[in-house]
Amino acid sequence: MKVHEYQARELLEQAGVAVPRGVVVTAPVEAAKAYDVLGDGLIVVKAQVHAGGRGKGVAVGPEIDRDLALAIASGKKPRPDGMAKGVQLVKSAAEAQSAAASLLGKTLVTYQTGALGQTISKVLVTAGHKIARELYLGMAIDRNLKCPVLMASTEGGVEIETVAAKTPEKIHREPIDVGVGLADFQARKVCKALGLTGPTAKKGAVFLKNFVKLFIDKDASLAEINPLIVTDSGDVLALDCKINFDDNAVFRHPDVAAMLDESEEDPAELRAARTGLSYVSLDGDIACLVNGAGLAMSTMDLIKYHGGEPANFLDVGGGADKDQVLEGFRILLSSPNVKAVLVNIFGGIMQCDIIAAAILAAYDEIDFRVPLVVRLEGTNVDLGKALLEKSGRKIVTADGLTDAARRVVAAARGSAA
Ligand code: GDP
Ligand code: MG
Repeated sequence: MKVHEYQARELLEQAGVAVPRGVVVTAPVEAAKAYDVLGDGLIVVKAQVHAGGRGKGVAVGPEIDRDLALAIASGKKPRPDGMAKGVQLVKSAAEAQSAAASLLGKTLVTYQTGALGQTISKVLVTAGHKIARELYLGMAIDRNLKCPVLMASTEGGVEIETVAAKTPEKIHREPIDVGVGLADFQARKVCKALGLTGPTAKKGAVFLKNFVKLFIDKDASLAEINPLIVTDSGDVLALDCKINFDDNAVFRHPDVAAMLDESEEDPAELRAARTGLSYVSLDGDIACLVNGAGLAMSTMDLIKYHGGEPANFLDVGGGADKDQVLEGFRILLSSPNVKAVLVNIFGGIMQCDIIAAAILAAYDEIDFRVPLVVRLEGTNVDLGKALLEKSGRKIVTADGLTDAARRVVAAARGSAA
């Protein structure tokens, strides 16, 4: 699960990690008021969307060609004068107000959002800081080491992907024992790698230990502070923050669960989650209703192998009753890209004839605008197939996975399945 920067900051603050003072606003006039509250120096106005690259991103209205916006946000085309960036530094209340006005209600396109971009409905106004040094801090799960790893680099502010690709030696990595957190000797090592000395190193060690503790305590899956800055006065501050949480552990953290912003989520994925279905939107045109994640993976592999592109991945789990199949079909068909549907179900716990009856009942309740190919296997498979074949509905039954994949790819291309 993703949260906004302003929400991640709240968690950092509670965990004792230093962040600049800030206020979230939803109207431009509130940004002017925030300027007065935060002091009269430099102020930063930041679009809140679930994506990074905002500093180079562009906030656009409906009149701007989004592909052009993406090319500008990715640095491939020059930025025209006056085109609003997702992060703006301002020096007066009036400037804060017009910066917020240039963001709120607009669409932010960054190299991470793709051309569609994301709607900006909140803006974070923070006290600006003079940056003496820009550093990078990240934390992720290392599946080879089977533990979280703290990553630190002196190359902050820029895209860390470039640093990792070109100069990986500039990223210091520190494996974390989740029972211990960041040990004192590790904190000292990381501070040294970041070039922090004297009182700044002391502040840095507290910052690092609390950051790691937050990651472990809240079951985060990814966290990034870029930039982590050292100020002129030797303070260490998180100027930007991104935290993702393990979906399977969010139930343990009601405060994190409450931060879900449904407007940032894929509507079909939200709807599926509410009915206990696992659904992932993809870019192709063949919808897949499958029971079990392993079967879903192999189904998508076969579709691709036979020249098709999956439109999504919908896993109804071990069972497949009528209501689940019905809701599953509704979700699948809600995507306008879908040109054919493949049902691939293994009747292990459930019997194939019961599944076939559920498919027929669901089929009759929905306006099935595209071809449906069904592959059943397992207990009572002959009974199940016979039910579908004799039903008189336009349902294609397949023999085996390969046959199913071929038929659904043909159906999506408009040839007979
Ligand atoms: P991102 O582009 O989505 O990662 O957004 P960031 O929050 O990292 O902001 C982008 C850039 O704006 C940062 O890398 C900084 O260089 C700059 N920036 C943000 N806040 C401040 C600030 O308080 N002072 C100064 N001088 N620059 C800032
Ligand atoms: Mg950043």
